[in-house]
Amino acid sequence: MNKPLVAILSGAGISTDSGIPDYRGPNGLWRRDPEAEKLVTYDYYMADPEIRRRSWRMRRATHTLNAAPNSAHRAVAELERSGVPVRVITQNVDGLHQLAGLPARKVLELHGSARSVVCTACHTRGPMEDALARVDAGEDDPACLECGGVLKPATVMFGERLDPAVLGDALAITKACQIFIAVGTSLQVQPAAGLAGVATDHGARLLIVNAEPTPYDELADEVIREPIGTALPALLRGLTTAA
Ligand code: ZN
Repeated sequence: MNKPLVAILSGAGISTDSGIPDYRGPNGLWRRDPEAEKLVTYDYYMADPEIRRRSWRMRRATHTLNAAPNSAHRAVAELERSGVPVRVITQNVDGLHQLAGLPARKVLELHGSARSVVCTACHTRGPMEDALARVDAGEDDPACLECGGVLKPATVMFGERLDPAVLGDALAITKACQIFIAVGTSLQVQPAAGLAGVATDHGARLLIVNAEPTPYDELADEVIREPIGTALPALLRGLTTAA
């Protein structure tokens, strides 16, 4: 018997237990603070060195890199280790699915990764850790070491397009899966939100784990409003024993 392919779409809610607030959602910190939003908006970032300096100071202060995976991230990794085919499509940039032990090739990061930096001129990548060490050492707007270009986090800023290759892979997995679990996402930000509808159109069971109602609750086979840290592990253990 073939085990069903499980696709998990994760949003900010899966990482709040790890101390990472919702920055970019419809009610996220950035959307409520226009000055903060500028720090992560591509045109402002590229045009204004002062915005970049504030942006690096913000990243130094938020310690996102120090966050650790929580029980929900670990449960996803355990599901994969148990032999169930799992793919994660995440709206998060924190890299916590991979830190929990899920192989990186099984994680699609729709909004990129805050653990890397990329040069906006030559596209060279490097660890965020190294860039932050340069900020600690006194460079307030570290430039690309290869070409001197403007360095930015390898995340999709406001005003930037999602990587079409990543989006294409996410769509393919959504169409192929038998079970689609949306966890910790309000399903209000496109195109990630639309994936829930694509999944049901292609016959997948849709399970939603989220504190607040979502526009896709009506379509779902099951909606769970319990805290993610306990609800997701319980749900995934059920899948392991059923498979
Ligand atoms: Zn460069």
